[in-house]
Amino acid sequence: MEQILCIYCGDFFPPSPRHKRRTSCKRPECKRAKKADWQRHKMKTDPIYKSNQKISQKEWARANPGYWRQYRKRNPKKAERNRILQTIRNRKARSSHSVAKMDASVIAKMDASKSNNFKILGQFWLVPVIAKMDALKVNIHTISSHYP
Ligand SMILES: [Zn+2]
Repeated sequence: MEQILCIYCGDFFPPSPRHKRRTSCKRPECKRAKKADWQRHKMKTDPIYKSNQKISQKEWARANPGYWRQYRKRNPKKAERNRILQTIRNRKARSSHSVAKMDASVIAKMDASKSNNFKILGQFWLVPVIAKMDALKVNIHTISSHYP
């Protein structure tokens, strides 16, 4: 019988006669990933679902006071990553409003000969576009031109 490729773990699994269009295997982590994908899609495409989710999340948070503060304390790395991702989302939302105001003259000012004046130094997070990957903290330093 032909095998189906699980889009989450990359393993093959036998097709089920009842669910011919199945895209994930039976592993709990693949089922969870599939459900998360479905929910992400639903949040983007179904405004009623989205507002119901937000209401029930708020109700849950009210019934479990301090949970998220505790969560951030217990998982400082995840909390930091979420803070960064939220910052990026905020910036994206802001820039999508301001993009219309930006015209060619602004872009034309980016002169290649002046690129040496633009120094990116400090600590940054490399945040992969693929959300399943972890963000990576990087430090960017100048090195002397005499570096071997
Ligand atoms: Zn799988």
